[in-house]
This record gives sequence, structure tokens and C-alpha cells, in this order.
Amino acid sequence: MSTGLSLVDAGLTMEDPGVLGELEVRFIQPYQATKAYTCPGCNREIPPGLGHMVVVPVEAPDLRRHWHRGCWMGRRT
Ligand SMILES: [Zn+2]
Repeated sequence: MSTGLSLVDAGLTMEDPGVLGELEVRFIQPYQATKAYTCPGCNREIPPGLGHMVVVPVEAPDLRRHWHRGCWMGRRT
């Protein structure tokens, strides 16, 4: 898996991930979380060291987003 994470991860929001088609959802273990991200569900930071979800559009992996697990599970669809 690439570790070339970019500023795109932290800066953009995604109102409705469903518009991007099929999504691959993975759980990032705390030890894998080495950067801070902004959760598009609540617009708050996901600090390094916190386990969370990463949501990757299959056809647009550059648009992946990092979510708090609770925000992802509780999002509106
Ligand atoms: Zn959140």
C-alpha cells in the first residue's frame, strides 16, 4: 500500500461519498495513524495515533477520506 499520502487527505471535505461510486472502507489501526486528518463527518481533527476509518473510492483513490469510526457509522446516507 502506498504511503504517499498528500495534503488532499487533510484539506478537502466530501459531502456525499456515495456520489463517487463504489467505496472501499478500511480500518486504520492506531499504530498506522501517523498523521492528523480532518474528518469530513464532523470537520474535526483525527489526531495521530487514533484508530479510524479510511474510505477509498475504488475509481478515484486519490479522493480517499479519513473518518472517525463513529462519524462514518453514524453518517447520513
Ligand atoms: Zn468525525
